[in-house]
Amino acid sequence: MKLSDLRTGEKGIIVKVMGRGAFRKRIIEMGFIKGKEVTVIQNAPLKDPIHYKIMDYDVSLRRNDAALIEVVSAAEFAETQQKKQNISPDTLTTPSNDELQKIAFHKGKIINIALVGNPNCGKTSLFNFASGAHEHVGNYSGVTVDAKEGIFMQNGYTFRIVDLPGTYSLSAYTPEELYVRKHISEAHPDVVINVVDASNLERNLYLTTQLIDMDTRMVIALNMYDELERRANKLDHRTLGKLLGSPMVPTISRTGWGIENLFDKVIEVYEEQEPDLRHIHINYGDALEKAITCIKNKLNKEVDIEKNISRRYLSIKLLEGDPEIEKFVKSIPNSQPILEERDKQCIQIENLLKEDCETAFTNARYGFISGALRETFEENKIQQVTNTQLIDLFLTNKVLGFPFFIFFIWLMFEATFRLGAYPMEWIEWIVEHIGNFVRAYMSDGPVKDLLVDGIIGGVGGVIVFLPNILILYCCISFMEDSGYMARAAFIMDKIMHKMGLHGKSFIPLIMGFGCNVPAIMASRTIESRNSRMITILINPLMSCSARLPVYVLLAGAFFPNNASAVLFGLYATGIVLAVLMARLFRKFLFKKEDVPFVMELPPYRLPTAKSIFIHMWEKAKQYLHKMGGVILIASILIWFLGYFPRHSEKSDIYNQQIAQTEQADIPTEDKEKIMGEIEHLKNIDHQENSYIGHIGKAIEPILRPLGFDWKISVSLLTGMAAKEVVVSTLSVLYTGESDENSQSLQDRLKENKNAAGELTFTPLIALSLMLFVLIYFPCIATVSAIINEAKSWKWGLFVIGYTCVLAWIVSFIVYQTGNFFIHLFS
Ligand code: GDP
Ligand code: MG
Repeated sequence: MKLSDLRTGEKGIIVKVMGRGAFRKRIIEMGFIKGKEVTVIQNAPLKDPIHYKIMDYDVSLRRNDAALIEVVSAAEFAETQQKKQNISPDTLTTPSNDELQKIAFHKGKIINIALVGNPNCGKTSLFNFASGAHEHVGNYSGVTVDAKEGIFMQNGYTFRIVDLPGTYSLSAYTPEELYVRKHISEAHPDVVINVVDASNLERNLYLTTQLIDMDTRMVIALNMYDELERRANKLDHRTLGKLLGSPMVPTISRTGWGIENLFDKVIEVYEEQEPDLRHIHINYGDALEKAITCIKNKLNKEVDIEKNISRRYLSIKLLEGDPEIEKFVKSIPNSQPILEERDKQCIQIENLLKEDCETAFTNARYGFISGALRETFEENKIQQVTNTQLIDLFLTNKVLGFPFFIFFIWLMFEATFRLGAYPMEWIEWIVEHIGNFVRAYMSDGPVKDLLVDGIIGGVGGVIVFLPNILILYCCISFMEDSGYMARAAFIMDKIMHKMGLHGKSFIPLIMGFGCNVPAIMASRTIESRNSRMITILINPLMSCSARLPVYVLLAGAFFPNNASAVLFGLYATGIVLAVLMARLFRKFLFKKEDVPFVMELPPYRLPTAKSIFIHMWEKAKQYLHKMGGVILIASILIWFLGYFPRHSEKSDIYNQQIAQTEQADIPTEDKEKIMGEIEHLKNIDHQENSYIGHIGKAIEPILRPLGFDWKISVSLLTGMAAKEVVVSTLSVLYTGESDENSQSLQDRLKENKNAAGELTFTPLIALSLMLFVLIYFPCIATVSAIINEAKSWKWGLFVIGYTCVLAWIVSFIVYQTGNFFIHLFS
């Protein structure tokens, strides 16, 4: 707990002092040291400051400052004991000082760490290696959009690591920058690990200079050390660490080399045994330094702010015109003179340096970096042609780039379809045999029907597509990890500009092929809100892997010879529609705005098998999870609604007819045929009279013009939960009509006839259905992701509305014109 939470009269043992440089130093000098005992003399709620007794002195601390000291108290001890052993409060003994000391000692060995660094410098790889987590690693910027926490132990210390989104800087321009800054200043990590890409030092150290300004305790991980060595560049990282005031440890986070050393260094820094650790001031040059000093003095004199915030940092940020910091300063009483001073200083600087303040700071930072590098870094003069340059000669070539891109995508679908067909057959075989087994050994009744038709039919119908989805993910993650995805975005940049977007929006769109939900979250990296919104709104048109089962089923059944071409066409249709919608949205909803942006092309890196495997494994788990959850529930529900009520007026008539036929005096062969037909009609009647039949019939009129019967209509309705459910619904609804129950779903669909004896499915209807499934209603999870990101219900509803209308229009056009031509030529 925090020291400020202790009540009058209570005592606590200090676990650690958080917060930054000068403040920490003073607090520690006052005697607030790990393991020392503090007693509260006076802590009235709402009253500031609080009086404490420590080492026989009386000290008063501001509430906010006391909140930065972590303690253990007897009360807290009692509470945890009670929770652990479930003993009544009166039998509890107060812990002895020794016991408390012990707890404080253990708690003091928990180190909170934040990973901060540029995008794509290897933070998540480091995080995964250290904590054993399986977070997504990708070779382009903007993969991590949320903070992830992991735990890891070494040398008796426990590390709580937070993997933060990558940022180039800590200004207040993008959501991630603010997020990272907020995390540092509010969550108070004990140590920041600044991950820098050793092959790109100059740019990576820019962020480091800002962390230095914030005065955080820091260890620098000199990551991608392998690339530095491969290029035969020389870096004296010890000296550079000394110059920066934070120790530097070389690491290769892909293989884990150096990570143990890194955390050893973190312990040294945490325990303040690291000699290189010191707070340095980056020298911004006379003009800027003078301005900083003026504002700092004013800050000290005029207003009363928490000790824990660096005055120098505030002054620099004020001069840079940082809106967040300005807001903060404005919220302090009597801050007017400070802002006036700032304005005065800014004008002086601009007159003197002939550039605006912010640029002056940026230039000074880069000046500092190049100075530090000049002393420590020696670049290999013999410029070798790197593999990346060689590969890019082809892959980002003006003429060849696009065909290559199309080829890779085509290859991906071909693999998804053709390679996936083999394991799919095996799983189908297993599902079929389980069904047959249950059918043979269970006595007839609703439970058997539920098991065979509902659960095995529904879940089994979808689970067979697991291999296809894994292959698709394998390809996507290979493209992401190798760095090709960033090139794809680069190649697409021109087309994206035509949509009023830029290449950066392309990555969330491609990610949408996997799943729309993380893709929509990845849109966060797009700086401009309008572009971001458009990217989010068109993302559901990217055909996610949940739609794949529907395509594989229908394309395999009705276009067996051209299945991958159909698949490719569907994905392409999604993209074309996305382009059109983006243009519409740009024109009517989000007017143009120009945000210049640089797209980074990271060097190609061979993905590790492990990282791809982990990615696929995570996806498989998610898919199976979905099977056990939403798809299982939906299957049971649909079965239930389709099974009941068991009785209708007509069923009596059919039963009578069957009985009559049985007794009739005709050859057995004919008898069986007639009875089969009546049975078939009875089944159709039963399904139509079931609850789901009524629901389906109610919506059928809307979907009839697209060629869909009521069963397809029902499956589209249930597919709103998750699109795989379309398949499981078809599978449940099209069971039991044929005598041979063990027929595969594809055959069942191909042969199904309605009461009038017409085929329910034709290739044209299948095509119309696939298009509809592609476009209509993004699943519930996607809608909630959109609502989350757009921060308004309105946009969720908007997406539902526009996708449904668009789906209807496209399917209508395809079905009706198709029909027209079929009639014309028949
Ligand atoms: P993040 O964006 O900072 O989280 O970076 P990631 O952990 O996602 O890694 C970006 C890319 O760099 C991936 O392709 C990693 O495989 C690769 N990578 C990470 N660390 C190293 C390293 O030390 N050496 C090399 N050569 N590649 C690395
Ligand atoms: Mg990351």
